[in-house]
Amino acid sequence: MISIAIDGPAGAGKSTIAKRLSAEFGFIYVDTGALYRAVGLYALRQGLTQLNAQTVPPLLPQITVKLKFVDGLQRVFLNDQDVSEAIRQNEVSMAASDVSAIPAVREFLFELQRNIAKENNIVMDGRDIGTVVLPNADVKIFLTASPEVRARRRHLELLEKGQSVDFQQLLEEIKTRDHNDSTRAVAPLKQAEDAVLVDSSDLTLEEAVSAAADTVRRVLHQKGKRL
Ligand code: C5P
Repeated sequence: MISIAIDGPAGAGKSTIAKRLSAEFGFIYVDTGALYRAVGLYALRQGLTQLNAQTVPPLLPQITVKLKFVDGLQRVFLNDQDVSEAIRQNEVSMAASDVSAIPAVREFLFELQRNIAKENNIVMDGRDIGTVVLPNADVKIFLTASPEVRARRRHLELLEKGQSVDFQQLLEEIKTRDHNDSTRAVAPLKQAEDAVLVDSSDLTLEEAVSAAADTVRRVLHQKGKRL
């Protein structure tokens, strides 16, 4: 099996690029942020206002998260209910970031991620894929962009979905999530030593996709792996 790990901060374009790579190479695209979002959504639905290591772990035995792939696209099921759209609401982003700092939550989602990679050729994106989940991934890409560029992209994305959120608020949220994700004790967001850095701040989408696809071909070629 071939695995391609794409890590990086929120809004760097990981999911767009991962989807394009998976289509190009015929791999399954696994969005691991969706798993943390599903747990965050469940906690919000239970009415929790403080999401921390005391409040969230007792909920985990009530939760089943499953990923299904329909026409190559990932659907997320929370206790057998399809929550693929519900987890995209803006308030779920913060909840996901909060629950992702809890070690018991990361452990809870770990095997699920590993098992998918064992059985499929995958492009998997997240924060700790190259460092923790798939330390032996064949290709590792660390995709980043400046906070301002990322907030602008998120803003447009949400507007397209009909959600109007203040730009400054989004920028602050992105900075807070960056801080939370990179300073947490377990599996913090960081570039793996053997990851290739792609900074998309000054790249168009097509340029970023080409840079990532070239990286995949080059690294696989160096390792003597065939696509
Ligand atoms: O990628 P996305 O923005 O959907 O992820 C939501 C949150 O889940 C992130 O802010 C991050 O805190 C967390 N996450 C994580 N590890 C991953 C994927 C996402 O901690 N592998």
